Amino acid sequence: MDPQRSLDGGVVQQNREYAAPERRWAWVEIDREAIRHNLKRFRRHLGPDVRMLAVVKADGYGHGAVECARVSLATGASVLGVASVDEGIELRHAGIAAPVLILAEPPIEAIPLVLQHQLVPSVYNMEFALALGETADAQGRPSPYHLKVDTGMNRVGVHYSDAGDFLRTIDFHRGLELQGVFTHFATADDIDTYEFKRQIERFEQALSVIRYMGIDPGTVHAANTSAAIRYRQSHYDMVRLGIGIYGLYPSEVTKQSIELHPAMSVRARVSFLKAVPVGEGVSYSHSYRSPGNVLVATLPIGYGDGLSRVLSNRMDVLAKGRRLPQVGNICMDMTMVEVDQRSSALHPRTDIALGDEVTIIGRSGNDLITLDDMGKMTGTINYELACRFGLRLDRVFVD
Ligand SMILES: *Cc1c(COP(=O)(O)O)cnc(C)c1O
Repeated sequence: MDPQRSLDGGVVQQNREYAAPERRWAWVEIDREAIRHNLKRFRRHLGPDVRMLAVVKADGYGHGAVECARVSLATGASVLGVASVDEGIELRHAGIAAPVLILAEPPIEAIPLVLQHQLVPSVYNMEFALALGETADAQGRPSPYHLKVDTGMNRVGVHYSDAGDFLRTIDFHRGLELQGVFTHFATADDIDTYEFKRQIERFEQALSVIRYMGIDPGTVHAANTSAAIRYRQSHYDMVRLGIGIYGLYPSEVTKQSIELHPAMSVRARVSFLKAVPVGEGVSYSHSYRSPGNVLVATLPIGYGDGLSRVLSNRMDVLAKGRRLPQVGNICMDMTMVEVDQRSSALHPRTDIALGDEVTIIGRSGNDLITLDDMGKMTGTINYELACRFGLRLDRVFVD
């Protein structure tokens, strides 16, 4: 992980009038203003005492963890959430001093790094808890931790009926300081509310046992984006906002009550343009043949950049406010689109030239292609697509 990745290409610009990245004519554009807008909308949606943890795991869902962390902290978030020790260290190396919660329990071997970088681990295995306590105590400074309680996701966490016993065993430890107790919902984005309510009840049950034992649970948190949008009773002391700060909705039912702006666009420039004679095939396997009267434009972006090969011959891109059909099999690093050369009164020809900008995700003129649209076509969710587009493409931040 290199926090300077988007800087050393000289591609970070302060406004929309940027030159395309000089190294490759394909890039992800991240609108910082959209992220600010989304956090402000959540701020208004939540009670005044509810803190916001910005989840920047998986390189900020592909949006750039360091940059998104900075924007989030400057716009009201007070805690950051990551998935791994390395993701936490990346934030520290970028000079970010805000509290960082690792949303999962790291391996015991990583404890020295956790302490060195003042990251706050989630805890749910007794071996880990005791090892954390021993190491922290040896260094003379207790380690804060959050207890993760499993209330029905059945992924990780201390079972809700064991939370009291678990804490009873480790609460004496001089090296451990309980800073928070949390759970995670499996179905907060679902129309059906039964499982959600059952998880809340189980969480409440665990919290009352903990309090009854005289233990202060610290910061209590449960809500992801969906629950933060839909269920006030799940807000507690803090909400963990991931997908929402990037302007994406976890599901259809979450779209009603909050207006979010997507921060990510995916763009490319035409890197080659040619007429393909009628009947000639294009790309691997010749899954498309020229109908004649077309130009084929090549874009330097492919499945290695997150543009799924499943979309071959099924997707459109936007250029000059018009839709152009993608044609032929999507390659690892390149993709072709068809530019119809016929023209009529109703459908004037789109004039495309080498170097013209094409939008794969995002707005162009009055038209828009979203990660949700692409998710429906590929059988996955906007979360996964955003992560994938962030893996290889350069990033350009705009305000
Ligand atoms: C990823 C994650 C979140 C954020 O979920 P969103 O649906 O993106 O808001 C919150 N909590 C935990 C534990 C997570 O792993």
